Amino acid sequence: MAKVLIVDDIEDNIKLLWYNLEDDEHEIESASDGYQCLEKALSFMPDIILLDLMMPGLSGLETLKLLKTNEKLDAIPVIMISANDGDESIIHALDLGAQDYVTKPFIYPVLAARLRSAVRLKESQEKLAEANKTLELLASQDPLTDTYNHRHFFNLAGAEFAKTKRYERPISTIMIDADHFKSINDKYGHAVGDQALISMASICQDLIRTSDFIGRLGGEEFAVCCPDTAVEGACKLAERIREAIECSVTEHEDVRLQFTVSIGVATLTPEDLTFNTILDRADSLLYEAKQGGRNQVICHERKSALT
Ligand SMILES: [Mg+2]
Repeated sequence: MAKVLIVDDIEDNIKLLWYNLEDDEHEIESASDGYQCLEKALSFMPDIILLDLMMPGLSGLETLKLLKTNEKLDAIPVIMISANDGDESIIHALDLGAQDYVTKPFIYPVLAARLRSAVRLKESQEKLAEANKTLELLASQDPLTDTYNHRHFFNLAGAEFAKTKRYERPISTIMIDADHFKSINDKYGHAVGDQALISMASICQDLIRTSDFIGRLGGEEFAVCCPDTAVEGACKLAERIREAIECSVTEHEDVRLQFTVSIGVATLTPEDLTFNTILDRADSLLYEAKQGGRNQVICHERKSALT
């Protein structure tokens, strides 16, 4: 069963098709001209449109063109119904994106089979698009923490950096590393260590803004890229992250774990030619935070521990 929109300027043609399609248990709507077709297509969102070629006002071809240039409607397959199979318009219609055509007077079972075939094709294209989306997501994510993986984080950060340079806007980066992570793994096992990384990532995801993004750069190390953010804003965010992680309890089976993170925050300077140089500075500041006793945020410029 499919949702079918019949478009024809002659009422009897609509009726004939309607009765046949109804017997095949399709859900049907009709339109008597091109403008009504666009309106009904948007509200009904059919699986397929049967479109008469010869119509007064907006012709079948003009209607087809409007359907195929509307991004909400362009994926709906259209079968053109024409009075003449020698019609040049058929070639034109197929070139414009019509899925198929039938000529009048048509044999209904043939039309019905073509309709089923067009709907099947549409469904498999949708499934393919869905599968591609899933693959894209898998290829861009760290499977443990659902943050971006190293490669995707650097792709996005590189693009943000280019925009930042072009429009002379600020950009900051926060590097976060779990303190004494090796001893967490050694003492409680990798399952608890993994759970700690999941909590850490989820706390960060909750605190960052929608324009920020986070990636796992490796092991227990994460980076947050904050476009349009000067150092003060990034430091405040970093401090909120540090505090939230310090106050959180990670539970796994009978283990209740509390741990802390060290953070370095760096911001764009006129000397930066790539995103990596900002990240390297954030990494050195993170190292200073570790050397200075851990569980602290060290920011570029002020270069002072906030805790
Ligand atoms: Mg007509």
